[in-house]
Formats: sequence, C-alpha cells, structure tokens
Amino acid sequence: MSYAGMTNAGMSASNRIVDLRSDTVTRPGEAMRRAMAEAEVGDDVYGEDATVTALEEKVAALLGKEAGLFVASGTQSNLLALLAHCQRGEEYIAGETYHSYAEEGGGASVLGGIAVHPLAIDGRGAITAEQVESRIKPDDFHYPITRLVCLENTVSGHVQTIENQEAIAAVARRHGLSVHLDGARLMNAAVALGLPPAAVASHADSVSLCLSKGLGAPVGSVLSGPADFIARARRGRKMLGGGMRQAGILAAACLYALDHHIDRLAEDHANAKRLAKGLAACKGLDVDAPETNMVFIAPAEEDLEPLRAHLAARGIIIAAQRPKTRMVTHLDITAEDVDRTIEAFGAFGAFYKG
Ligand SMILES: *Cc1c(COP(=O)(O)O)cnc(C)c1O
Repeated sequence: MSYAGMTNAGMSASNRIVDLRSDTVTRPGEAMRRAMAEAEVGDDVYGEDATVTALEEKVAALLGKEAGLFVASGTQSNLLALLAHCQRGEEYIAGETYHSYAEEGGGASVLGGIAVHPLAIDGRGAITAEQVESRIKPDDFHYPITRLVCLENTVSGHVQTIENQEAIAAVARRHGLSVHLDGARLMNAAVALGLPPAAVASHADSVSLCLSKGLGAPVGSVLSGPADFIARARRGRKMLGGGMRQAGILAAACLYALDHHIDRLAEDHANAKRLAKGLAACKGLDVDAPETNMVFIAPAEEDLEPLRAHLAARGIIIAAQRPKTRMVTHLDITAEDVDRTIEAFGAFGAFYKG
C-alpha cells in the first residue's frame, strides 16, 4: 500500500494519519518552507552557495570537527567516509547490524574495493574494545589491511555510552586506525545523554549526521571531519554525481532543523516512553523500548498483518518488519496520537483483555 499524498493538513486529532514507520516521514512545516523559499543560493559546485557553506560550518562546529560536507543522504555520507578513509584492499570493522555495513548495498566493496569485518553486537547494539582489538589484522600479506573502525550512535534507538566508544577509539588509535561515527541519530543520543553533540562525537575522526530523520528536514546529511578528509570526500561526492548546484534551498531546511528541532527530540523520547508503557499493558505483546524515539514490538507471526490492517483502518501506520516491528516517534507524532495508537492496540482481538 502507498501512503503518497496523505497529509494531516486540516485534519482533527481523531482522524490524523499517525505514521510510526520511521522518523524519515516528517514533512517540512510552514516556517521551514519559508526558510527554504528565502534561502540565499549560488552554485555550490563552484563553492558559491552561502547557505550550504553556512550549514557545513555549523555542523562541523556543533560536532567539534574542522570541516563539513553537505550530501544527499546518510548512505552517501557513510560511503564517502569509507572511500576517504580506506584504499582498495583495506578493511573496516563494524557491528554486524550497523547501517554502514548491513544497509548500504555493500557500496564500500562495490565502489571502493574495501573489505569489512563485522562483529557481533550485544543486546544494546554495542561492540567492545576487546572484540575490535582481537580482529585487527597483523601485518601479514594474507590479510586485508585494517584501517578503520565504524561506530554508530544511536543503534536501533539505543544510546551508546561515551565510555565504551572512547575505549574502542583508544584501541583504534593504538593500532593506527581511524574512527568513523555513523551518527545518523546522534542528536537523539546527545539529548538523551544531556551532553553537547561535540561530546558525543569527540572520540571519532569523522561523523555522519542525518538532518532528514528526527530533525525533520526533507533531505540531507552532513559529513564532518578533518579538512583534508573532507576535501577527499568532496572529490568523492562529485565523482558519485552528488555535486549539487543551488542546494541552499535544502540546506536552509537543515539549518532551520538545527535551530529549532534539536531540543524538542526530548518530546519524541517522552512519546516513545508513553507508547511503550501503554503497549506493555497489551496481553501477550512483547515490548522493548530503548531510551530514544523507538519502540519495538514482537507480535506473533500470524497477528502482524491483521494488526497492521486493524491499525490502518484507524489511520495508524506501522512497519512490517519481523520478528521485531519498529515504531518510531517524531516531529509529526503528538501525545494524543500516541494515546490513539495505544487505544487501537487495546481494541485488537489478540491483545484485548476483555
Ligand atoms: C537512516 C540511516 C542511515 C542512512 O540514511 P539515508 O539518508 O536513509 O541514506 C545511516 N545510518 C543509520 C544509523 C541510519 O539510521
């Protein structure tokens, strides 16, 4: 089923579409659209788009890095980081579910001849310094050359501890490796930890941040890191066809998101908690709620499709992943929407307590 064209414009609280599939589904509001319409623009391939430049500088400053690069997506950002860190025949180490390894079409190997060593993660999405150290290859021509560790924060809604990430980075440094942080949802981690974003990014050489998820911009990610690294990534972006011209219209939305949508992520976290608490009361439903904006449910296999249909009939959209189905709170989900969702779950046959 396609949900294209559905909007909540003019809808009352009881018939709004409640789309819990992802925080990528948010649509730019009036004020963000105004900022986009009024953006100063130029040709960014010539380095002349002041709004793109302002965004790159702002994100770099927020994350405590030297330079930034505005790119089309988180996937492109991670790919450019891998290509800029690693040469052909080199490898990176990453958690086995991490997006940079598991969800990006094998881009680093397809386009960069880069190998990967995936590591098992624990129940909170973490890998350990010991695991990393044990997998760094010795200087032996049988092996790829280990070059990079890829971390992620948050991982499936779980905040990664600074201590663990620092311990991994210390091992990496000791062995001459770089550290890339896929911080697609880094701002959720920063808000949950009550730390400045730069503190959450401090152990990493390079960071990828998505503006199009919880932060609510329509398009875009920013890769940040040392100036020479960003210069290589800028070359890679052009090569991949990602050099954009008057991209300031998009960057303006990202700047608006950074100015207005970081602190409010706490509301998404509170709404996820509220949702988890409400769903936990459903008979026989397994509910798992990390600290940020995600809730995972594990309905019985035979219940998932009937449940999705039952919810869809009430304007509530959830994803279809198995065995755990993810529900994500975001900018376009209110506490009322959460309560409506809990009510709808309670009215589903399998969960009904009678
Ligand atoms: C969504 C996501 C990405 C990729 O972002 P896209 O913009 O969808 O390409 C990368 N890493 C993580 C952890 C993500 O959640």
